[in-house]
Amino acid sequence: MRYNVSQLLKEHVGATRHYQLQEDISELDPSLKPLTDLVGNVDLIRTNEGILVRADLRTNVELTCSRCLVQFSMPVRFRIDEEFHPTIDILTGARLPQPDDADEATKIDAHHLLDLSEIVRQDLTLALPLVPLCRNDCKGLCPNCGKNWNEGDCECADVEMDPRFAILKQLLDEPENLN
Ligand SMILES: [Zn+2]
Ligand SMILES: [Zn+2]
Repeated sequence: MRYNVSQLLKEHVGATRHYQLQEDISELDPSLKPLTDLVGNVDLIRTNEGILVRADLRTNVELTCSRCLVQFSMPVRFRIDEEFHPTIDILTGARLPQPDDADEATKIDAHHLLDLSEIVRQDLTLALPLVPLCRNDCKGLCPNCGKNWNEGDCECADVEMDPRFAILKQLLDEPENLN
């Protein structure tokens, strides 16, 4: 995910390079479990200040459902819209002053390499749900016996039932009582 932008930095504002990205990101972050390569389009656009990166990227990550604890694959798509700044003047070779709040992740290094990996790591992490669910209507686990309710009911239902409803259920279970 590193691009040499030395030529692009010499061009006029608005000059653009298009790239197709396909990258193994399994080593990007120990807390992320990508199941497929990261793929998509990357545009690098010369601005007054540096290089604007616009990207549209996709991958699949393994997540653990917060209700039933089953691991599942989730497709993730996210965009990058981030301006990178050179640390060295491309024409003179002089070191450029950096603003105090300069972000290390968006610096173009002394060899004019623009490294997308930290921004990809941040934006991919932000694109993931805070509370992952294997499906919207995941029923979760029985707090009593631990059975995954997505796979069927357990025997605990009667025990846990509110006693006021238990009487009603008893009536319904034995239809002769209703007659
Ligand atoms: Zn689930
Ligand atoms: Zn149960």
